Amino acid sequence: AEECSVVVGVRIRPFNDREKALNAQLCVDVDGPTTILQNPPEMAIESGKGKEAKRFTFDASFWSHDGFEVGGDGYCSAAPGSRYADQRTVFETFGRRILDSAWEGYHCCLFAYGQTGAGKSYSMVGYGANKGIVPISCEEIFKRISANTDSNLTYEVMVSMVEIYNEQVQDLLVPPKDRPKKGLEIRESQQLGIYIGGVSRRPVDSYASIEAVVEEGTENRTVGATLMNATSSRAHTVLTIEFKQVSQAGGQQGQKLSLINLVDLAGSEKAGQTGASGDRLKEGCAINKSLSALGNVIEKLADKAMGKAKPNAVIPYRDSKLTRLLQNALGGSSKTVMICHLVKLRRDALNLEICGSSEEDQEFCDHQ
Ligand code: ADP
Ligand code: MG
Repeated sequence: AEECSVVVGVRIRPFNDREKALNAQLCVDVDGPTTILQNPPEMAIESGKGKEAKRFTFDASFWSHDGFEVGGDGYCSAAPGSRYADQRTVFETFGRRILDSAWEGYHCCLFAYGQTGAGKSYSMVGYGANKGIVPISCEEIFKRISANTDSNLTYEVMVSMVEIYNEQVQDLLVPPKDRPKKGLEIRESQQLGIYIGGVSRRPVDSYASIEAVVEEGTENRTVGATLMNATSSRAHTVLTIEFKQVSQAGGQQGQKLSLINLVDLAGSEKAGQTGASGDRLKEGCAINKSLSALGNVIEKLADKAMGKAKPNAVIPYRDSKLTRLLQNALGGSSKTVMICHLVKLRRDALNLEICGSSEEDQEFCDHQ
């Protein structure tokens, strides 16, 4: 089997109204595929390490902070001469790669990583005219299918959508009141590989039908006692598109199955930072379990791909629900894309309390 491949990108969103009102200052920049973290002066003094910026090179670094113009339909695109990366650009760079891999028969995963408010859902789902990777990919899948002229080749597409919340897998295509309390179990069989026992799998045959299923799932997401965003940010949303190509050649039937997993991860902020306590804290820990397990798994896979680990090194998929569920799509011959959303602001007196700044971004980059 071919080695798995992992590609990583960074995206930087515009300031929100709150940050603008606080006169926030960004201390991150991009230069081609490189992300530059400027060492804020106050940190340089604390650490005594000087003021040099740190450079981290990724497969892509998307500047979506400024330089855009808004079209009549609300779509944000690059103003002439600007380096602004719009939704199409992000899809063309990473989404298309995922679809191409699926057509070749690979399983794949695309993750949006970052703190709450950093732009994960904007990249994945999008808002209004600024459709994200999920709708663009769905559209593209059926565009490609309808462009097929080979009568010996047919396609079957099924979707499921789950949420991992508090280390429990919940079916988003079932109304909350009809779900088993403790969620669904992840099982494994020789025939099916790893799968979720009893999960809904909806056949879809057009963009409109897949869009309707995703909409239904989105409406069924966990809505917490407090702010909706506060809760949805604590869950991982996993959309799985099962893509099967069936070919007839000389009376023989061949099948190629790919699982395309599009994952909007829970916020990467630490439990303590958001004032979590009690149940909220427990959730925070559980989220961090899936998130930190994902980090470990990807790190080990990358080591392996670069020959830094023994070929038979154990990858800790079983450490969390998320990594277990995606085991087949993370390891083996598969393709993984990780888009990291950074919000790195100067930590001066004015900015201190802005959520979404922090060392965590720095840690993420240091890890690369
Ligand atoms: P997350 O899902 O990481 O919590 P969101 O994607 O919901 O964050 O983004 C938070 C806010 O920032 C939203 O109002 C969204 O419209 C805006 N935003 C995020 N990324 C971008 C971007 N690239 N361009 C314009 N606005 C963005
Ligand atoms: Mg979100």
